[in-house]
Amino acid sequence: MPLRKIAQIGHPVLREKARALTREELLAPATQQLIDDMIATMRDAQGAGLAAIQVYETVRIAVVEVGQNARYPYKPPIPLTILVNPELNPVAGEGELFDNYEGCLSVPDLRGLVPRQTVLRCRSWDRHGNPVDRVVKGLEACTYQHEIDHLDGTLFVDRVVDRQSFSTWKDWERFHREPFVARVKELVAKYGS
Ligand code: ZN
Repeated sequence: MPLRKIAQIGHPVLREKARALTREELLAPATQQLIDDMIATMRDAQGAGLAAIQVYETVRIAVVEVGQNARYPYKPPIPLTILVNPELNPVAGEGELFDNYEGCLSVPDLRGLVPRQTVLRCRSWDRHGNPVDRVVKGLEACTYQHEIDHLDGTLFVDRVVDRQSFSTWKDWERFHREPFVARVKELVAKYGS
C-alpha cells in the first residue's frame, strides 16, 4: 500500500470541487487501490481523516479513523470508516454548535477554532457501494464535517470565526489544550463520541 503525497495549503487542488463517483468507478481496481493508499497515508501521518482531494484525486471519497492517535490523544475512538459520495444534513431539533479546535494534514503547524454542528445525518456509500445512512454526533460529527468540507474545496482555516484562536501546535499544547480538553470531555459525556 504505497503512501501518497499530501497536498499542502496553497496548492490549487485543495480548492477544487471533487466529483461524485459511479458504483462502477468505485469498484474499479484503481479506486480500491486509492482507498487502501488513503488509509495507509492517513495512518502514517497520524491524521484523524483524509480526503481524496488531499492526495490529488478529485473524487468524493474520505476516510476517517481515530485509534490511539498521538496527534489527537484526547479524541474518543472512531472505527475506520470510508465515506463515498457523502452528504450531511441537520437533524431537526437536535444538536448545537461546538467550537472545535482543528488541525489539518494539509495545513502545517496551525490549529484554529471552527464552529461545527454536533448532530448530523450522514448518507453515503461504503467502499463496496452499499448505502449507509446514520446519525453522527459529537467530535465524530465535527471530523465528518472537516473531511466533507475538503470535497468542496473548503479548508478549516476558511471557517475559523475567531481568528485570534489560530495557534501553532506547540503553543496550542501550551496555552489552549487544557480548556479545550475540558470542553471535549463535556461533549463526549453528552453524545458518547
Ligand atoms: Zn483536513
